[in-house]
Amino acid sequence: MVVVLEKNVTQEQLENIIKHLEEYNFAVHKSTGEEQIVLGAIGVQLNFDTRKIKILEGVAEVYRITEPFKLASRSFKKENTEIKIKDVVIGGSEVVMMAGPCSVENEDQIFTIAEIVSKAGAKILRGGAFKPRTSPYSFQGLGEEGLKLMRKAADKYGLLIITEVMESSNIDLIEKYADIFQVGARNMQNFPLLRDLGKTTKPIMLKRGLAATVEDLLMSAEYILSSGNKEVMLCERGIRTFETYTRNTFDLSAIPVIHKRSHLPIIADPSHATGLRDKVLPMARAAVAAGADGLMVEVHHEPEKALSDGPQALLPEQFAELMIQVKTIAEVIGRKM
Ligand code: PEP
Ligand code: MN
Repeated sequence: MVVVLEKNVTQEQLENIIKHLEEYNFAVHKSTGEEQIVLGAIGVQLNFDTRKIKILEGVAEVYRITEPFKLASRSFKKENTEIKIKDVVIGGSEVVMMAGPCSVENEDQIFTIAEIVSKAGAKILRGGAFKPRTSPYSFQGLGEEGLKLMRKAADKYGLLIITEVMESSNIDLIEKYADIFQVGARNMQNFPLLRDLGKTTKPIMLKRGLAATVEDLLMSAEYILSSGNKEVMLCERGIRTFETYTRNTFDLSAIPVIHKRSHLPIIADPSHATGLRDKVLPMARAAVAAGADGLMVEVHHEPEKALSDGPQALLPEQFAELMIQVKTIAEVIGRKM
């Protein structure tokens, strides 16, 4: 940690700051510049609250130099984490496509969409059976019935399944059917859920919260990793900003930022990020160009009848076109699709 002192700091304040740092077990190195004194506080303390120093009289700024997360960090593990599920590898040279409806609605719907996405080249079927809806009056998902239908459809078309888990009491049930647990944006900081998922043995995709920084996201991943499960992938799905022309603001720069700071794979979700069907293809191309390890895209054959997120679902032919275009982009940057 670096502590920059105010220009007019008094000797008494300086001594008090050093005393505090030493009490917090930092070794202190003082550098006196022409205008300001800078203190180097040496000693790794992952959870040190820098505000304890910021509030002291005479302190101008405090900068943390070590990251507050460990297991998720690139400095802890240099090589990329590759998550292998049957014949699919997430985080390797291939860009993996996860696609399907927002919600599993009925047998005909999920079988039709599973066939569409598998024919176009997706490896993983997405779909919610337990839905985190903003309104309690909206469709909440089919529950176990939805999981059963999804598993049957995925098996018929040789797909893996990713589906959302909203609460710890449903982990065992969902684990019976799913290949990947999805933690939704609204649950990114549900720490008891993250800890419980950390005790499972199936991979987890953790979506970025609506108002979460990349550091918040990595700290949440740390909860899962430190509870034992090392198969974590992250997902950029857009964040809340003042912009209103899209549902969220797609933070594409999070992709290279996460790749630099962490070894965990990062998936991009242009469907929830933009909320509008016609914005999904350009943003999917951009995400692959930015280095995303996979995409999650919503697809529906009758989006006008969809029980959730119809306006952002791609039509089958749009999805097929997306697959062709993103494959071309993947190849340009030396990846496969
Ligand atoms: C979803 O993927 O179905 C979903 C609800 O997404 P998010 O949690 O990102 O809103
Ligand atoms: Mn959705």
